[in-house]
Amino acid sequence: MIFSPRGNDLLASRYSIKTTRGIEVVKRVNFLHEQHGVKISSIFLSNSSSEYQLYKRLKRGEQLTHTSLLCLERCLDKTFVSLAEDKKIWTQEEILATNISSLISYLEYKIGPSSSKHIRDNLDLSHYAIFDTSSQNLVPLTYENLVFDTNVWIPNRLSLTVFKEALNLLGDEVEIERAGKFSVLNTDLRYKAAWAILMMSPAKVIERVTKENESYNRTKVVTIESLSANSAVIKAEYKPNLTHLDSGEYVIPSICAWNKGLYHGYMSLGGAKNICIKELACVTRGDECCVFQANWTETLSIFKRIRAAIRLFQN
Ligand SMILES: [Zn+2]
Repeated sequence: MIFSPRGNDLLASRYSIKTTRGIEVVKRVNFLHEQHGVKISSIFLSNSSSEYQLYKRLKRGEQLTHTSLLCLERCLDKTFVSLAEDKKIWTQEEILATNISSLISYLEYKIGPSSSKHIRDNLDLSHYAIFDTSSQNLVPLTYENLVFDTNVWIPNRLSLTVFKEALNLLGDEVEIERAGKFSVLNTDLRYKAAWAILMMSPAKVIERVTKENESYNRTKVVTIESLSANSAVIKAEYKPNLTHLDSGEYVIPSICAWNKGLYHGYMSLGGAKNICIKELACVTRGDECCVFQANWTETLSIFKRIRAAIRLFQN
């Protein structure tokens, strides 16, 4: 049987509640209606607008043209943009979710798969949305996005919520620090960076990690206060207007512990030994910024480093 190209064109240009784009429109309407209490008629201007009639046709299972569907999508975009500021915080891009997936990997390693289930069950994601680049739309954030997607940015508030849950499971901040170190040394996501870092001296590692800070979060500016062959002082200044917990906290001690762990992990990849990282000042203790001091002793020779890099590559 031969299909005429014309027939295929016709199919491709019509959208129903069963096509991906049609499903997406219905999903976004439900999201606005159920999570943000927006009336469906107000998304489409009024009860009698042509847009509202189009939406009703879509819901009935009728097929819409590209232009009609675009009209509905524009109404949705306008509604998302007009959400009140306190609702918008649920979509802010402040932290790269790979931090969260690394933390959850550690929980699974340390406590078992039940811990990931615990986080999943206790996390209320219903208000969060992310921008989906393939559909160019805001879509509801899922737990799978958090754990498996490599390029999802989430609000600081959500990151803090996950760290609070993780602290409940792990017991103390020392464990969160271990989780940070583990995420550098054991997670595939940082694997490429690990190989390059093995080729650097510990001091160079500090410089590199400081520079790369912004590719993992947009919450703080990190600068090196001083740097020598065996020590470094690093300053982390948090940006104003970050999304925060209901308590008003925008940084919690677990976040600083996690950062200490990250530094420790990177330093040890760089061949540093007897690493000691202290937090001299901290936002959570009322200081203006967090200041970390790192000290270390001997470093690996270039030959040992190359050997370690090859081993890492082979594994
Ligand atoms: Zn701190």
